[in-house]
Amino acid sequence: MAASSHTHLALDDAALITAARDAMVLDGEQWTAMREKVFKALAAAAQPVSAYDVAERLSASEGRRVAPNSVYRILDLFVAHNLALRVESRNAYLANVHPGCVHDCIFLICEQCGDTAHLDDDETARMVRRSATTDGFAVTRPIMEIVGRCRNCAT
Ligand SMILES: [Zn+2]
Ligand SMILES: [Zn+2]
Ligand SMILES: [Zn+2]
Repeated sequence: MAASSHTHLALDDAALITAARDAMVLDGEQWTAMREKVFKALAAAAQPVSAYDVAERLSASEGRRVAPNSVYRILDLFVAHNLALRVESRNAYLANVHPGCVHDCIFLICEQCGDTAHLDDDETARMVRRSATTDGFAVTRPIMEIVGRCRNCAT
């Protein structure tokens, strides 16, 4: 694992949802019933999911059609408030289990089974940011994804 100055507590589902709601409210955003449903669906997914996946799940559980577009907007709002992380190459999202703690996440994506892990290596992220700025480039954020084979698929 990455050398990190702190560790992250693994929140159980209820604590994570409370932490997400508190973070949103603290940022002056509303925590609507729909936003909570989208966040719960995200938190329940073991792997990164697309807005379309979340919309399908919600449509099934709600018994009415939930438009992927409205889910997409909520997911992007979550990303903006650090409640969700976006895996750019897969156009997929996962719940941030450490809301209120900002990192440049590095994703490890298995090209065989699609399993996606992530690590927070602040030192590597700092180096990437520093290299990028040497020529006067203004960094918004690095997008770091590593493709390979997970432990299960590598053997
Ligand atoms: Zn952290
Ligand atoms: Zn992270
Ligand atoms: Zn795999």
